[in-house]
Amino acid sequence: MYDKHGRNINYLRLSVNSKCNFDCFFCSSNRTIIHELTLNELKSLSELFSLLGIEHVRITGGEPLIRQDLPQILELFSKNFHISITTNGSHLKEFVKILSKFHVRNINLSLHSLDEEIFYKITKAKLSDVLDGLKAALKEKLNIKLNCVVNRYNVEEIPNLVRFASKLKIPIRFIELMPIGQNNESIPLSEIMKRLESFELKPVNVKLGFGPASYYVTKNGNYVGIIAALSKNFCSSCNKIRVSSEGKLYPCLGSSFCIDLRELLNRTSSKEELLMILRSTVESKPLRHNMNESFVQSDMRELGG
Ligand code: SAM
Ligand code: SF4
Repeated sequence: MYDKHGRNINYLRLSVNSKCNFDCFFCSSNRTIIHELTLNELKSLSELFSLLGIEHVRITGGEPLIRQDLPQILELFSKNFHISITTNGSHLKEFVKILSKFHVRNINLSLHSLDEEIFYKITKAKLSDVLDGLKAALKEKLNIKLNCVVNRYNVEEIPNLVRFASKLKIPIRFIELMPIGQNNESIPLSEIMKRLESFELKPVNVKLGFGPASYYVTKNGNYVGIIAALSKNFCSSCNKIRVSSEGKLYPCLGSSFCIDLRELLNRTSSKEELLMILRSTVESKPLRHNMNESFVQSDMRELGG
C-alpha cells in the first residue's frame, strides 16, 4: 500500500522477542517485563499484513533465535511473505537447518569486532559462538550480510573487518550508531569513510535485499555498505513499518507514534475495521525522522533496530 507521501510500504520489520542474551552498550532496553505477541496473535497479524500489501518480513528482536517457538513463527510467516532474519549469531549454528527449511535464506548477522576483548566490551558476549554460527551458515549456503555498528571501540577495526568479509566473499555494512534511548555518541560518517580509503571504494547502484544501505565495491569486487540514517537521510525512499515485540505498530522508527495492535485485536474481530485502522496508521507515516535534532526514546530490543 502507499502512504500519503507516495511511498510503497511493502516491508515489515517484526520484533518477536524483547529479550536478548547479549548486552550491546548502544542497544537500549527500558523495560523488563514484556509480554511478547503470542503465536495466535502473530497469526492474525500475518493475515492482516498480507492483505495490506506487505511482501517482505524481517524477523528481529531482541534476539529472535532465543525465542522457543521461533520455528512455528517462521513456518507461519513463510506462507505469506519472503522472510529474512537479523541475529547476533550466537545460536545460528543450531538454527541453520531450520532457517533453510523455511526458506529464510537472507541473514543479517551482527558482527561488531573480530577481537575477543573488544567484542566483549561492546556486547558482553563471546565472539567464538558468533564465528561458529557464521561458519555453519556459510556451509549451509545461506546468504549472509555482516552488520557492524561503528562505535568508539571498533572504529579502528573497520579495515580489518572489510578484509575479513572480502576473504569470505560476503557483503559487510557499517551502520552509523543511532541515538536511541540514551546519549550514545556516533562516529561521524566522514571518519568511517576515511578508514575505508585504502580500499578505493567505487559507488555501485546495487540493491542487496530491501534495506537502505548505499553500496560500494572494493577493488577485489566485494561489497561494502553504509547505513547512515543520520548523515544520509533515506526517509524519502523508506518502505518500512515496524511492529514491536509487544505488538505496537510504529510507522517510523524515529517517532514515538504507534498504535497497539494487541489491544485492537482484542477490541474488534471485524477484519474490515482492523484493516481500515491499519491503513490509516500506515498512511500517516511521517515524511522524515527527527533523530538529528533529538534523541528518540524508543526501545531498540522491542523495536528490532
Ligand atoms: N539481536 C539481533 C542483532 O543484534 O542483530 C537483532 C536485533 S538488533 C536491535 C538489530 C540491529 O540493530 C543490529 O544490527 C544492531 O547492531 C542494531 N542496533 C542496535 N542498537 C543500535 C543503535 N543504537 N544504532 C544503530 N544500530 C543499532
Ligand atoms: Fe541484543 Fe542485538 Fe541489542 Fe545487541 S543489538 S543487545 S544482540 S538485541
